[in-house]
Amino acid sequence: MNKEMKFATKAIHAGVEPDAATGAIMTPIYQTSTYAQPTPGEHKGYEYSRTQNPTRHALEKNLAALENGKHGLAFASGLASIDACMRLLNPGEEVISTNDLYGGTYRLYTKVHENYGLNFHFIGMDTPQHAEQYITEKTKMIWIETPTNPTMNIIDIKGFAELAKRHNILLVVDNTFASPYLQNPLDLGADIVMHSVTKYIGGHSDVVMGFLALNDDALQERLAFIQNSVGAVPGPMDSFLVLRGIKTLHLRIQRHCENGAVVAKWLKAHPKVDRMYWPGFEDHPNHEVAKEQMRDFGGMISFSLKGDKLEDAYRVVSKMEVFTLAESLGGVESLAGHPASMTHAAIPKEEREKTGVTDSLIRLSVGVEDVDDLIADLEQALS
Ligand SMILES: *Cc1c(COP(=O)(O)O)cnc(C)c1O
Repeated sequence: MNKEMKFATKAIHAGVEPDAATGAIMTPIYQTSTYAQPTPGEHKGYEYSRTQNPTRHALEKNLAALENGKHGLAFASGLASIDACMRLLNPGEEVISTNDLYGGTYRLYTKVHENYGLNFHFIGMDTPQHAEQYITEKTKMIWIETPTNPTMNIIDIKGFAELAKRHNILLVVDNTFASPYLQNPLDLGADIVMHSVTKYIGGHSDVVMGFLALNDDALQERLAFIQNSVGAVPGPMDSFLVLRGIKTLHLRIQRHCENGAVVAKWLKAHPKVDRMYWPGFEDHPNHEVAKEQMRDFGGMISFSLKGDKLEDAYRVVSKMEVFTLAESLGGVESLAGHPASMTHAAIPKEEREKTGVTDSLIRLSVGVEDVDDLIADLEQALS
């Protein structure tokens, strides 16, 4: 695929070609575990579907192209793709990670990988200079999530890439909240970009999947070995559904951003709303970095209520009718979440409050419905 092609064209065409046998425009769902070999060892590039499957392969090529990466690897979930990254490390080695992290990632690190001897430093990543003091000769990876979940902090990917290069450390960026349409970490110097495909890339709340994109050949070989050896791969049907979802990724994200901006500004002016978390506001602490590294500001918004009462937050999210109270984000439908009791329930209260996940914090994944209906719903829920 021509690297010069623009995003929308790549979304629709990269990695996919009309089926050689029939001319079918859509990539077939190769629902097969194995492949015929005319003589032992002779095959058409596919031997067994844990290792490789044509539908998954088309998706991996497509997603790699959207992240301007040379290689792509799909996994059974976002967490399976994060787990694969951690398996690059050895016991005794250290990871420096964003502190306001997706709750499931925090659980994977502290409840699973710490038991296997990895050590994590969870820190605020306002500046690379601040992070540098945590680097030791055992530090092998820096893990960044930006925008962060759920307080929408923005981390300077380029600055952290320079820091990581200087110390010969791998930089991995969880790009789930931005999507490849808004932000491309490999272009900014990251070694690996990770996605929970479950969210914006899939876009229709019907698939759980993860993805890694990267440029380095040796690293790709190690990760493909892990992918095949551990076996947390997505099936052909899910790969097909995601390929279909991606064809409108750019259109969906454009509308998520438009609606997100309207909702964020409306909430900011509301008398019951206390703090707002959305990188599009000029008073957001890293608004300038967001403008630099993102194409637009996205449809993820968090806000807290005046008085910070748990009951008030429960009442608001329960009254919503167009927004659905649910875990997850990034689908066409608008969702609301209460991080303290849902996505971040695994994080101790003192830890989560330090990062702004207070009792009344509400997180919105603004969908692509008519924005007038979204505003009307918020208005009645807050009244
Ligand atoms: C959902 C999510 C994950 C985990 O992905 P799954 O597909 O649920 O396993 C990781 N990081 C972020 C930012 C997420 O939102």
